[in-house]
Amino acid sequence: MTCNILAIDQGTTSSRAILFNEKGAMLGTGQEEFPQLFPRNGWVEHNPEDIWQTTLNSCRQALKTAGLLPRDITTIGITNQRETVIVWDRRTGKPLYNAIVWQDRRTAEYCESLRARDLEPVIQKKTGLLLDPYFSATKLRWILEHTDGARELAEKGHLAFGTVDSFLLWRLTGGRYHCTDATNASRTLLFNIHDHDWDRELLELFNIPASLLPEVRDCASDFGQTTVDALGCEIAIQGIAGDQQAAAFGQCCFKPGMAKSTYGTGCFLLLNTGTQPVTSHNRLLTTIGCRLQGVSSYAMEGSIFMAGATIQWIRDGLKLIDQAAESEQLAQATDPELSVYLVPAFTGLGAPYWDADARGAIFGLTRDTGIKEIVTAALLSVCYQSLDLMQAIGRDGAGLTTLRVDGGMVTNNFVLQSLADLLDCAVERPRIIETTALGAAYLAGLQAGVFSSLDHIAKGWNLDRTFAPARDQAWRERRYRGWLDAVARTRSKPGFSA
Ligand code: ADP
Repeated sequence: MTCNILAIDQGTTSSRAILFNEKGAMLGTGQEEFPQLFPRNGWVEHNPEDIWQTTLNSCRQALKTAGLLPRDITTIGITNQRETVIVWDRRTGKPLYNAIVWQDRRTAEYCESLRARDLEPVIQKKTGLLLDPYFSATKLRWILEHTDGARELAEKGHLAFGTVDSFLLWRLTGGRYHCTDATNASRTLLFNIHDHDWDRELLELFNIPASLLPEVRDCASDFGQTTVDALGCEIAIQGIAGDQQAAAFGQCCFKPGMAKSTYGTGCFLLLNTGTQPVTSHNRLLTTIGCRLQGVSSYAMEGSIFMAGATIQWIRDGLKLIDQAAESEQLAQATDPELSVYLVPAFTGLGAPYWDADARGAIFGLTRDTGIKEIVTAALLSVCYQSLDLMQAIGRDGAGLTTLRVDGGMVTNNFVLQSLADLLDCAVERPRIIETTALGAAYLAGLQAGVFSSLDHIAKGWNLDRTFAPARDQAWRERRYRGWLDAVARTRSKPGFSA
């Protein structure tokens, strides 16, 4: 039987939709960008109506390019930019305020005040996260505190809160379903990842009425049907996961020890740690990787701010190359004993350093340093940062057997070979690198019975190429020492080093 699965991938800068068949092949795609709103320094907002309209448009475009009709869709999966907050009025469906985006830093001071009260350890214990504006709770609180009448409406039960998945689901089902999935819930700072429920103490701490919250379901679950108004006919929605978790699912990282790393603008590494959460002592996040049939599997997550963005800077800022892809040839022609290290701390350093005030630098310049050395150092910075994450994971007692990679940077073979050499682990590149949308499609297809099991899905995962480690330990240690030394010199204050 042929089945068509529509994956909605609502991202930070654009909404996308991809139609897959039951073999995971892409049949059609749609994509539409929308405006980024920066009302003040450090604030980032989206208009929820833009999110909604561009999502609908990209679904229609995907159908058109595939030559299919809405009634040909078997099931829908949703994946989304995580942590972004929307509050709307249940009576009208109208948002009270713009979506406050994950990148928004307006609650930094408030987070700092909670940290000063030594609340981070208890929050980390319950949620697996750190006290940072990145996560939803402080943004939700901000909307309730700063929008006229919001607090009163909330107390009366008229308001609904959702991450982007919830908002889209609510709209797609004509207000019949106010739900989210466990992975999105686990990014709010309000969800207890051990009790699998919203946490009363945290709701009190952030002063959030429970009436606002969506019901939390498994990632593969029945989330209702679309209205005829939304997509032209009633279609079941049966999968939801946050974007990074969806990518891990799309990469079939179903077993403990399997990890995926997405190398786009930034980099997100997720390691499956199985049914037991591993608490990090090295400032990595513990999060829900997936929940199926009531059973959560956990993941450790590390994020790097600058991956492909460093190459963008090399291209557009320094103008050393015309195209990102040229970097590979230059790197292949560079001495492997390169003395140059580039630390891309343009906006501070992410995991495991979390040093917001560190700034970028290039070290080890010699008289013969030229364009190719600097470009190569930029590519290698992505590999060294991945090694920082791996080392932190190792110190937390977890380990990695396979690293599956995706994102725009993974067409670069030099980067993947260097990753394998530095991480001393096999690096696998799949044939389909649209893993985020694919993960959402797999989840919906699993619930719809298109796929019978995780094994069935995993059999469909197609390898493009494996990069095997080809360097010895002495080489690795020598190279990494140089990196750690360079990082230490960019730190805002002497402190923790990887
Ligand atoms: P995002 O989804 O975050 O917008 P993509 O996954 O589309 O990003 O990846 C684009 C990024 O990958 C850009 O930052 C670009 O600089 C980088 N990139 C693309 N091709 C290459 C390449 N061959 N070598 C190195 N970097 C690349």
